[in-house]
Amino acid sequence: MIQAQDIDANFKYDVAAQPGGEHIKVCYSCGTCTAGCPVTEADARYSPRRIIRQVLLGQRQAVLADPLIWYCETCYACSAYCPQNVKFGDVMRALREMAVAEGYYTPEFLQRIRNVDRLAHALRLQLVQAALEQSQEASPVSLESAADAVQESVKNTRV
Ligand code: SF4
Ligand code: SF4
Repeated sequence: MIQAQDIDANFKYDVAAQPGGEHIKVCYSCGTCTAGCPVTEADARYSPRRIIRQVLLGQRQAVLADPLIWYCETCYACSAYCPQNVKFGDVMRALREMAVAEGYYTPEFLQRIRNVDRLAHALRLQLVQAALEQSQEASPVSLESAADAVQESVKNTRV
């Protein structure tokens, strides 16, 4: 339960002052971003619309201390469909930078998350390449073998 003393009326202005956070105040909470977010599809606790509402309501600590802000995979699907051009993917980056700057997470933690991001992008690329090869070649590379290679990469990678 958020108490009145936990509200910071400047939070939205601070977010808007960050690179990437500039458009947050024009969000009108339509929910299009949440409807198209692949992370929300996998875990309903993650909701771009709710995070923006929390920012606009001044819930600084509740947002910046929440592990959910690290769930965004920066795919920018939310930005593509937003009628207000809020660019929520960039807002998430701004919130993460603020969370580290304000001591909720260490710079080392941020580096580990960046490593996970890089690994996730590389693995997605491998799977897409395998899918393309499967659709184009007479002797297809199976997605299952690509998935095995991806599993091996994950096992061998330290984050
Ligand atoms: S799609 Fe844009 S305007 Fe709609 S809730 Fe998301 S950020 Fe706000
Ligand atoms: S950029 Fe983040 S919030 Fe936006 S759709 Fe992708 S995962 Fe969801």
